[in-house]
Amino acid sequence: MDSSLPASSAIASPPALRLESPIELAHGVGPRRAWQLRDLGVGTCADLLEYFPRDYVEFHGQRTISQIHPMENAAVEGDILQTRSFPRRPRRFEALLDDGSGRCQLVWFNRWNMQEKIQPGTRLRATGKMQLYNGRYQMVQPQYQLIGPAAPQPPTAALEPVYPANQELSSAVIARIIHANLEALLGQVGEWFSPAQLHQRALLTRREAFSVIHRPPSLAQAYQARRSLAYHEFFIQQTAIAVRRHHHRTQQAAAALRVDQTVEARIRALLHFPLTNAQNRVLADIQRDLAQTRPMNRLLQGDVGSGKTVLALFAMLFAVASGGQAAFMAPTEILAEQHFDTLHRYLSASRVQMALLTGGQPPAVRESTIRGIADGSIGITVATHALLSDVVQFKNLRVLVVDEQHKFGVRQRALIRSRHPGVHTLVMTATPIPRTLAMTIFGDLDSSVIDEMPPGRQPIGTRMVPENQRQKAYQFVADQLKAGRQAYIVLPAVDENVRELANAVQCRDELAAGVLKDFRIGLVHGRMAREQRQQVMESFRQHQLDVLVATTVIEVGVDVPNACVMVIEHAQQFGLSQLHQLRGRVGRGTAASWCLLLAQEPTDTAKARMAALCKYPGGFDIAEEDLKIRGMGEIVGTRQSGRADLQFAELLFDAKLLAMARADALALVANDPHLIRSEHAMIRQIITRDLGDAVALANVG
Ligand code: ADP
Ligand code: MG
Repeated sequence: MDSSLPASSAIASPPALRLESPIELAHGVGPRRAWQLRDLGVGTCADLLEYFPRDYVEFHGQRTISQIHPMENAAVEGDILQTRSFPRRPRRFEALLDDGSGRCQLVWFNRWNMQEKIQPGTRLRATGKMQLYNGRYQMVQPQYQLIGPAAPQPPTAALEPVYPANQELSSAVIARIIHANLEALLGQVGEWFSPAQLHQRALLTRREAFSVIHRPPSLAQAYQARRSLAYHEFFIQQTAIAVRRHHHRTQQAAAALRVDQTVEARIRALLHFPLTNAQNRVLADIQRDLAQTRPMNRLLQGDVGSGKTVLALFAMLFAVASGGQAAFMAPTEILAEQHFDTLHRYLSASRVQMALLTGGQPPAVRESTIRGIADGSIGITVATHALLSDVVQFKNLRVLVVDEQHKFGVRQRALIRSRHPGVHTLVMTATPIPRTLAMTIFGDLDSSVIDEMPPGRQPIGTRMVPENQRQKAYQFVADQLKAGRQAYIVLPAVDENVRELANAVQCRDELAAGVLKDFRIGLVHGRMAREQRQQVMESFRQHQLDVLVATTVIEVGVDVPNACVMVIEHAQQFGLSQLHQLRGRVGRGTAASWCLLLAQEPTDTAKARMAALCKYPGGFDIAEEDLKIRGMGEIVGTRQSGRADLQFAELLFDAKLLAMARADALALVANDPHLIRSEHAMIRQIITRDLGDAVALANVG
């Protein structure tokens, strides 16, 4: 035997790629790429497999520019004639491409430094939607590939996935990396469900679905794959919720509170109004919950201004009347402050001790509050997530109110539960949540809805005002002010605080010099100290100011019934539910109220959002409309940070699918509440791994 021939086993085969392998081990990923991928949230091979396209571009074969119609998705290939770089806003890089049949402008916003890659003479292939701009063809933010003189033509798939990309890593590069590793990773994908179950629900296996989502033979099949993965995710999530719910119902003990008529009457006497029917109904729900020896877990939904805070007050005072303590948690410092002020006003005639606890307070103040919490002298604490710190130890916390819980991070949400297991919890939200979504994020809670506004509220006339009518809009504001009313002028908060401040100051100065020169104008913004902000808001409340120019710090909590006009500047920059929340600041008195939306060059989506706000007064309609407007683009596989957030759960169109997964999950948990049967081992493992301490599963059974 010739010993110089290497034995085949001596050739080291590369280690098998595993789902949990760090991303460096994937083919085509060196240290630099790994670093870039991590920036996109891809740290392991599993993350890579789950990095779903946000869209697909459909091709009808390669065509020339002259053959393409506006608004078609297309791929064009040609030579760059000239480029221009715009370092100032809107920062962008433009390149003019010529393919012999015609020309097309390529524009990349927020990238002004591409001249090293793309130069006159460069040949490239660009994919994107062909648009008409000033009568010329243009592609905005196209995907592109450089084509060297000798480079082979890249294979043109009928459907090309478009991955969420950033400056460092283009969709095309991500696609290459995924495709280089796809087969190896698919081999590692485990199945969660039996073939019988999948068949019954007409779903693909996980392996098939992952394969199709990255390489769809058709859009219909991509949809089917997406639907399958959504079901798988929904099922796991609903199972986790069902287990948790089962746990709360059967395992946790809480102190029953005093909710009798004497206490109730004492609380009612603090209010200067009778409760609405809807409030009375919810109050009864809360009283019933608090009288039990297991913890309340209730979600309270109600539109802005529907009177939720009052019900939180009841719940907290029931705790205090029973010799216990209560806490109210808000997602931001400003909101905590505003809620503190509101609750403080309700309690001005009572002896209950209140305190505010936020991270931004001077240490001495915070420490004294923490002492009062520990010795039980503070009855009601209003706080940010500072409440979750280990150093905050209640003597006997009985009721916890969490406002806008979905605005807290995943970890914080999990902490809220685990820090205070036997506490009656009321979760409130003014962001109306469509039923489908409520089921996914709040599925383990009982639910109450306030579907009625306090009496005397006026509908708010909402209008879109074109830029050329701006003067008229402000004249209208001036007329209202002359009639003794007050107005809000709202500006968007921006990332850079300095600019936010400059915008707000400039807006105030312009108004003060112009159409509103006869009126008293105040200014609040996010960079102000609390005392200063409070002072301005208080002056506005007392009508020492006619106009409040504000960045979105007034989003929730301000309550001035005499303010009946709101102008929202740059309304195109706000999300729909945010617009709705803002609008809720007016229409709180008995006068007719107005909300005027000023927008500059709104996109179609922004127009649709504003139109929905004009059309619908109620938050629930608006929330449903919001989902429709956001559409597929934002919905397919938007990657959330943190594993506990569903990748596909924003597919709220899949109401039926969710209901199906929920029914299946409930059936499973009814039979095997702790998932101890061997056929459920995989599901149990996934839930503990992905949702960790967000589920009680880990500590049961
Ligand atoms: P939410 O927290 O749902 O936004 P609030 O509890 O802050 O609503 O109530 C909004 C405003 O309506 C407050 O000024 C509050 O005092 C008032 N209010 C609440 N309930 C009633 C009611 N039943 N009758 C009259 N006014 C009410
Ligand atoms: Mg409120």
